[in-house]
Amino acid sequence: QFSMEKLLAEALVRDVPDFPKPGILFKDITPVLQDYDALRQVIDKMTEQSRPLKVDVVVGIEARGFIFGAPLALELEVGFVPLRKLGKLPYNRLVEEYALEYGTNTVEIHTDSIKPGQRVLIVDDVLATGGTAAAAARLVERAGGQVAGLCFLIELDFLEGRKALENYPIISLIRYQ
Ligand code: AMP
Repeated sequence: QFSMEKLLAEALVRDVPDFPKPGILFKDITPVLQDYDALRQVIDKMTEQSRPLKVDVVVGIEARGFIFGAPLALELEVGFVPLRKLGKLPYNRLVEEYALEYGTNTVEIHTDSIKPGQRVLIVDDVLATGGTAAAAARLVERAGGQVAGLCFLIELDFLEGRKALENYPIISLIRYQ
């Protein structure tokens, strides 16, 4: 049986120092994606843990949130909505800008992507400072949805991203202290 411990032991989450900038230890999840058993286990665990949240739709954060979000949506038998970086979505959009360490980032969602009151699960690969996920939650609420929870493969505890997401249930399969 494949486990999260085995996934870590086999270094399927690869640490890449100084990417994309000096001082950042990047958690590279591509080895997980390459391995069917690992990918299956991740999607199964995400499904199991998010099922009690009774979500109506999954929102994936560009780009690695798409990779986990779409198969998770299929398992939960709900639809999938992409939340994208500035300028990528073709139709009418809601826009949120948020602060980074240096500068700002902008994310967008289609105005008609979420029906009023729908319970939304937001998905991404890594929860770091929580800035991106908090902006995603604001967009979902502005679009008329209710944030049922957020789901990540990895949480970097020391960056305290949870503090930016205080009001919502958070699922994370692997936590680094
Ligand atoms: P944050 O807004 O700080 O929570 O950053 C979250 C976004 O940046 C996610 O979409 C992650 O994919 C990416 N990210 C931030 N830090 C890392 C890291 N150390 N390794 C991999 N991805 C990261």
